[in-house]
Amino acid sequence: MTVTAEGSWMSWYSRWGASKRGGVPVSPKRTEHQRLRREFVAMAGDAFDAMFDGDRQEQLMTMTQREDCVLEKGAELQGWLLARHLANDPAAAPAKSEPVACPACGGAGVPDKRDTAPVPRRCRTRAGPQEFRRTKYRCPKCRRIFFPPGRETRPRS
Ligand SMILES: [Zn+2]
Repeated sequence: MTVTAEGSWMSWYSRWGASKRGGVPVSPKRTEHQRLRREFVAMAGDAFDAMFDGDRQEQLMTMTQREDCVLEKGAELQGWLLARHLANDPAAAPAKSEPVACPACGGAGVPDKRDTAPVPRRCRTRAGPQEFRRTKYRCPKCRRIFFPPGRETRPRS
């Protein structure tokens, strides 16, 4: 069985897109999706204002000043998008019924019973440093602790 995004707001969103066309409605996750969208659009509006507001124009005269502003605002939007996408990743806390493969031996991992809350993880990305949470897993076969890497994970049978 392949681990999928089933049950996540992202998979729901794609199903909702199809069902909306057939007149079928609304999900409990819709409100969260709309809240995130409003937050993003507000940030994009701030980025636009930073470039085009009349009282900012004296600070955007040289190419370097324009580049700095564009790159700063773009980086903020990129970091926000990646952080929110990571936070909504179903791999952050797979359902207990979903198999999660050990990256070392491919055997089926189990959630670590001693540390059940998702653990903060940090990494550097091309969109800047990110922090996100993942459920800790343990491989009973090789005794390794690991974190689910993503949705395409599949244990060997
Ligand atoms: Zn293993």
